[in-house]
Amino acid sequence: MNVFPNVRFLSLVFLSVLYFHCCDAMMESADGGELMAGVAKVDITDREAGPVNDPLYVKALVLQSGQTKFAIVTVDAVAIGEIGHISNEYLPAVRAAVKGQVGIPPANVMINASHCHGVVCADVADRTVQAIEQAASHLVPVKIGTGSGHEDRVMENRRLFLNDGTEVDVRHAYSLPPDEAVAKVGPVDTQIGVLRLDRMDGSILSVVYNFACHPIQGVPSGANTADMIGFASKVIEENTGDETLALFLQGCGGDINPVMYKDVEHPRDAEPLGNLLGLSTLRAVREIECKEDSRLVVRNQQLTLPRRDPTARIFEMEKEQKRLLNSLNGTSLDLKAFLALTVKYNLSEQFPSYASHRYLHDEQLGRDDFRKLDALNRKNLQAYIRNIHAMEELTRVNTNLRLLRKHQRGLIDSGKRTVDVELTTVRIGDLVLTTFPGELTVQIGLNIKKASPHPQTLVAGYTNGYIYYAPTAKQLENFGGAQEDSDCILAPEWQALYEAKAAEMLQGI
Ligand SMILES: [Zn+2]
Repeated sequence: MNVFPNVRFLSLVFLSVLYFHCCDAMMESADGGELMAGVAKVDITDREAGPVNDPLYVKALVLQSGQTKFAIVTVDAVAIGEIGHISNEYLPAVRAAVKGQVGIPPANVMINASHCHGVVCADVADRTVQAIEQAASHLVPVKIGTGSGHEDRVMENRRLFLNDGTEVDVRHAYSLPPDEAVAKVGPVDTQIGVLRLDRMDGSILSVVYNFACHPIQGVPSGANTADMIGFASKVIEENTGDETLALFLQGCGGDINPVMYKDVEHPRDAEPLGNLLGLSTLRAVREIECKEDSRLVVRNQQLTLPRRDPTARIFEMEKEQKRLLNSLNGTSLDLKAFLALTVKYNLSEQFPSYASHRYLHDEQLGRDDFRKLDALNRKNLQAYIRNIHAMEELTRVNTNLRLLRKHQRGLIDSGKRTVDVELTTVRIGDLVLTTFPGELTVQIGLNIKKASPHPQTLVAGYTNGYIYYAPTAKQLENFGGAQEDSDCILAPEWQALYEAKAAEMLQGI
């Protein structure tokens, strides 16, 4: 049954207005003179929301060169609007207040969410403005430098390529596919992009570091936490001097999980992962030599991207849901009997049902009663396992189908087949940073870095808004099979448009 008849109608209406454009919203640059910087952080933990393991922060780094001012703001939250505890009014409200009170134009206030799943306080917007104001009122001359760290122990790609050509992702929301169905795994980005800012006396004012990984490991108590980012920043700050502020920029972590994400043998603990990330960042920080460099160039553009209509895929998945449900076949076993038999039949291949002498007596007497029983039990075990796998697949189909339906409703509500995104590209000395307001998957970050003419290019997703996951066109062929391709509003054409625009902005800065 088509429960969303309007979508097809809307598709036709809005197909005719599908277009892509972009326009320069802001470009500011400065050369010569000196680069000034100030930092501040404000606690944004919601202390009413339950136990707190470690505080969540909004952190601000305000840069000024000549007339150009730019604020890098990081928030220990899941996203800038749309989902989680930060509303869609947050970004415009913060920018308007900062324009009025600090004189930084809205397009020059960049806010990145670490994507940790902590609970922030209700007045997070006021506290963000407070952090930016404080940072802007403590500007000092700085020397800057950039470098890269390496980390490959804390994360893993969560996309699994299956033998049948489909892809599944590793989530707590559903079961993994059987081991033998998995052919290979996706890539990771081991680079930690680092910007170091020193005061003129050589002490470190701030470290900005960029890495791609979902900070969703949690802590053993289950309490509110900034996750691995909170721990990594603490390690950096505690080992660089009392007055250093470490700001984390989430990269293209859309399909990157904490390592061993589905481990059930150990309490989930982000602290050791954060410690490793922090130490690897520190190693890079120590290698960086800072120099006077006042280049601060900011470009901010809007890009219009095509939205996807998930209606046809929803029908297919509803069919698949029914097929899986009908594939559940009767078997004599129940869970209790299945578990007991599984132990026995894995313990003794030859004599699973009783001690060997009973089988030997049967053999001597010309009977094969136990052999027949074993054959029947083995058949029932296989049937039960097939049912379990069908049930596990259903958990994936049901979860991803819910995501497609959510975005189908969003498409109807939006009334248009496109979505506008804000892209910021900024040069700070030798370092170039480019942003996107969604969960870019790691391959896109690797592509942008490779195509960039600048040796030190950072890519930050989760910045200046949130439009859900932004996977590759190839990953979108798997549409409905994994979170990244299901929790997504974009049509596959988006990737080429975005990568071309990012390359153009990087060329021009
Ligand atoms: Zn995510």
